[in-house]
Amino acid sequence: MHTINADLHCHSVVSDGTLTPEALASRAHANGVKIWSLTDHDELGGQERAKMAAQELGMQYIPGVEISVTWCAQTLHIVGLGVDPHNSDLLQGLYQTRNGRSNRAKAMAAQLDQVGIKDAYEGALQFVGNPDLISRTHFARFLVESGVCKDTNEVFANYLIEGKPGYVGHEWANLSDAITWIKQAGGIAVIAHPGRYRYTSLQLTQLYEQFKDLGGQGIEVVTGSHSPAEYKTFAKVALEYGFLASRGSDFHDPQESHIDLGLLPDLPSQLRPVWSVFQ
Ligand code: AMP
Ligand code: MN
Ligand code: MN
Ligand code: MN
Repeated sequence: MHTINADLHCHSVVSDGTLTPEALASRAHANGVKIWSLTDHDELGGQERAKMAAQELGMQYIPGVEISVTWCAQTLHIVGLGVDPHNSDLLQGLYQTRNGRSNRAKAMAAQLDQVGIKDAYEGALQFVGNPDLISRTHFARFLVESGVCKDTNEVFANYLIEGKPGYVGHEWANLSDAITWIKQAGGIAVIAHPGRYRYTSLQLTQLYEQFKDLGGQGIEVVTGSHSPAEYKTFAKVALEYGFLASRGSDFHDPQESHIDLGLLPDLPSQLRPVWSVFQ
C-alpha cells in the first residue's frame, strides 16, 4: 500500500503552473504515477480536464484544490482532496477567496514601479492562464523574463516577500471556513507543506490542534518543499495527531520545480496514506 506512486499536489495553467491539465496528466503517467490529483490554487476549473486525462491514461484521479488561508497573520495552504468540484459551497468559497487578487496585483506592480521596475502588472498578465488567478508566481516569471532576476529563487529572495518590494499582504480565507467548504464538498482537508511556514513551534502545535478540532484530517509529509529531515519531523506529527499522510510534488513547471511529478521518496511506512481513504 505504501509503495504505490501517488502524487496529490500540483498546479496547472488554471492557477500558477505552466502546463495544461492534460500535459500534467501525461507527465505524471510517464513518471509512474498511479494516483494523481491536480490541486490548483483557489480554483476548480481544471478538474474535469484532469479527470478525463487521468482516466484515459488509466490513473486513479482524486479531485483536488489548494486553498489560500490566513492564519495567525501568515498565509497557510490547505489542500482539499476528494472534493466534489461542483459543490456550490466550495465554489462560492473559492470565488470569494480569489476575489481581490487583481487589486492586489496592481498594488504589487505599483511597489515594483517605485523601485524602477515598470509595467509589471501588464508583464505578469502575459504569463497568466486564468485572469481570476494572478499570483506572485506570474510576477516572478515576469521578473525573470525581463532580466531583473536570474531565476524564481532569486525573485523570492529579493522581491514579493514580506519586507521586500512587491509584497502586498492579503487576507485570504479563514481556516474554519476553508475546512468547512472542503468537508461540505465531501473532501478531506490536508495541511500543505507544513515545513514552509514561519510559525513558532507553539503556533504550529496550536495549528495542529485547531485544524483537528475543526475536522481537518491530513498533513503533507513528503512534498517537494520538504527536506528528508522534515519527512521525519512531519511523520511524527502525523502519528501524534492521528493525521492521514499525503505525498505530493507541488510541481508547477519543468524548469522551476526541482522535484518532478511522482519522483519523490515513499511515505515513511508507519503512516496511513490519505489515498487509502479513496481506495
Ligand atoms: P500567491 O498565492 O499569489 O501569494 O502566490 C503564492 C505562490 O508563489 C506559491 O504557490 C508558489 O507557487 C509561489 N512561491 C511563493 N514563495 C515561493 C518561493 N520561495 N519560491 C518559489 N515559489 C514561491
Ligand atoms: Mn503556486
Ligand atoms: Mn502551497
Ligand atoms: Mn501548491
